[in-house]
Amino acid sequence: MKTWDGIVVGAGIIGLTLASELQRRGMRVLIVERGEPGREASWAAGGMLADCALETPQALQTLATASARMYPGFARAVEEASGMTVDLRQQGTILFPEDGTVLQQPEFAGRVLHSSAVIALEPNLAAGNRKAVYLAEGSVDPRALTAAAAEAARRAGVDFRRGETVTGLDPGDGAVTGVTTTAGTYAAPVVVNCAGAWAGQIRGGQAPTHPVKGQMLCLLTTPANGLAHVVRTPEAYLIPRSNGRLLIGATLEDAGFDKQMVPKTLERLHRAALTLAPRLQECPVVESWAGLRPGTRDGLPLLGAGGRKGYYIATGHYRDGILLAPVTARLMARLICGEDCEHDLGAFSPMRFGEGAKL
Ligand SMILES: Cc1cc2nc3c(=O)[nH]c(=O)nc-3n(C[C@H](O)[C@H](O)[C@H](O)COP(=O)(O)OP(=O)(O)OC[C@H]3O[C@@H](n4cnc5c(N)ncnc54)[C@H](O)[C@@H]3O)c2cc1C
Repeated sequence: MKTWDGIVVGAGIIGLTLASELQRRGMRVLIVERGEPGREASWAAGGMLADCALETPQALQTLATASARMYPGFARAVEEASGMTVDLRQQGTILFPEDGTVLQQPEFAGRVLHSSAVIALEPNLAAGNRKAVYLAEGSVDPRALTAAAAEAARRAGVDFRRGETVTGLDPGDGAVTGVTTTAGTYAAPVVVNCAGAWAGQIRGGQAPTHPVKGQMLCLLTTPANGLAHVVRTPEAYLIPRSNGRLLIGATLEDAGFDKQMVPKTLERLHRAALTLAPRLQECPVVESWAGLRPGTRDGLPLLGAGGRKGYYIATGHYRDGILLAPVTARLMARLICGEDCEHDLGAFSPMRFGEGAKL
C-alpha cells in the first residue's frame, strides 16, 4: 500500500501551492479533493494582489506585503514548473477610496491622481472630480494560476485523489495518523486542512471558517473600449485580463453555502461599471458566477498547528487567498518541516477562538 508523509485536504490555490512546497522539501504528498482541483473560491476570485494599507487588516499587512513581493518570482516558478501561463499583470491599480480625505495622509504623497491624471492613465474612465490614488499592485488570472499550480504539483510528484470528500481526521487525541474519506482511509503523520469555506466540516478538524459569497460578471472588451489598470471603487472593482476579459466584482454576502447568482445584484454591479467606464456599454457580458470565500470571525486567516501533533491548518484567507498563497505555502512548509519561520504567526493561530470553536 502506498504511504505518504503528508496529506493536504483541498486542492484550491492554498492546498496546491503548499503541497508543491512540501514535495519540494522531500515529503511525499497526497492531496484529497472532493471535486475537481481549483473549482471553488480560487476559481471564482478576481485575482487582485491588493496589499494596500487602506484595505488590509493591520495584523495581516506584513504577510500581505511579503506575499505581494514574492509574486513575480512565484508566478514565474509556477509557469516554468507547469509549462502554462498565469497572466501576471503589473500595470497597477487606480483606487478611488470611500473617504477621499485619507489621501491627505503622508504615505500617499506623490501618488494622488487628480482627475486629469486619471484620464491620462485610463482614457475610458469617467472620473468626474473624484481624487484617486495610484497603487503599484499586480493582478493575476486565478483560474490560470490554479490550473498551473495543479499541473506544477502533479509534475512535482504530488498524488491526487479527486472526487473524495475528507469526512474526518482519524479518531483520537494523540498524534494524527491520517484521514477518513468517503472512499476509505489514508495514512500519514502530517495532515493539513486547506478546505476553504468547508474547513470546519471535517470531523475533529477545529477550523472555524464560514462562507462569504461573492458574485461577479465578466465582459469582453477590445483595446479601444477596455482598461489597462485594475480600478477599485466602493461600488465595484474592475479587473482587466490580457485576453480582453474584464471582471466586475464583487459582492460580500452572508448567504450560507448558496452559490446562486442573483440577476438584480449582477445588474447593479454592471451599472456601477458602466458609470465608471461608459464605453463598457459596447462590451457583451460573457459570463457571471458566484463563489464562497473562506471567512473567519476576525477576518484573519487560520495558519498554524491545529491542536494535535501532526495536524495543521492553512485556510480562512477570506478576500486575499490569491495574494497570500505564496507566503502561506512558504511559512506553512517551514513550520511543518521544523524550520525557522521569518514571520510570527501568533495572530493567525487556528486555536485563537478556543478549542472546538464553530462559526
Ligand atoms: C468573488 C470572489 C472574489 C475574490 N477576489 C480575490 C482577489 O481579487 N484577490 C485575492 O487574493 N483573493 C480573492 N478572493 C479570495 C480567494 O479566492 C480565496 O481566499 C482563496 O481562493 C482561498 O483559497 P483556498 O484554497 O483556501 O479555498 P478554495 O479555493 O475554496 O479551495 C478549497 C478546496 O477544498 C475542497 N474541499 C472542501 N472540503 C473538502 C473536503 N472535506 N474534502 C476534500 N476537499 C474539500 C474544495 O472542493 C475546494 O476545492 C476572492 C474570492 C471570491 C469568491
